[in-house]
Amino acid sequence: VYDTAATVSAVRAAAAMIAGHKAELTRLDQAIGDGDHGENLARGFHAVLVKLESAAPATPADALKLVATTLISTVGGASGPLYGTAFLRASTALAGAAELTPELVAAALAAARDGVVARGKAEPGDKTMVDALGPAAEAARAAADGGGGVREVLAAAADAAARGSEATVPLQARKGRASYLGERSVGHVDPGSRSTAYLLASFAAGAT
Ligand code: ADP
Ligand code: MG
Ligand code: MG
Repeated sequence: VYDTAATVSAVRAAAAMIAGHKAELTRLDQAIGDGDHGENLARGFHAVLVKLESAAPATPADALKLVATTLISTVGGASGPLYGTAFLRASTALAGAAELTPELVAAALAAARDGVVARGKAEPGDKTMVDALGPAAEAARAAADGGGGVREVLAAAADAAARGSEATVPLQARKGRASYLGERSVGHVDPGSRSTAYLLASFAAGAT
């Protein structure tokens, strides 16, 4: 079951994942941005771990809300408010549920995507985290409709996010700092799409 304890474990795993890929995310952002994406997210998720030392989330939604509020206040840049919105919307979609269901996972990912789009105004193909989160939400919906369990739905989402991130390479950025580069943004992975894929992989790995 994917209950509160499993969600908190997945959040810790996500923090470890981001810490482990901090240099890589920063390198990706050095190529087409200002080279701080890894630092930004690692700072935010470290703060999440510190908060979890004293907080005891009561529901999966509570755990995601703690992530949201912490990222909003510590990450900064474009990705802080966007990830904050994503986790906050996902938290709201889970409401008071004691454990995740396939339907809740699909709804949470759709809500996260809609929140990021509403906040950042990026469309699919603009070479942003939306190019990972959008396919992830669609894959989760398809897997849930196909009768998959929580593990299958999260695995499908994580796979789609990884593929979506890779597919940002030939795109020209139209949002965020990378858009300042125009055609020179082509040929690189979008850093935010890569971090989204890592985060979803961490949540998928927490499903048993
Ligand atoms: P900053 O660009 O302010 O330094 P980060 O480096 O932490 O912030 O995050 C950059 C990432 O944020 C980009 O790779 C992209 O995925 C994402 N991003 C930037 N602007 C937008 C936007 N308007 N909509 C969605 N995602 C965006
Ligand atoms: Mg940056
Ligand atoms: Mg920056």
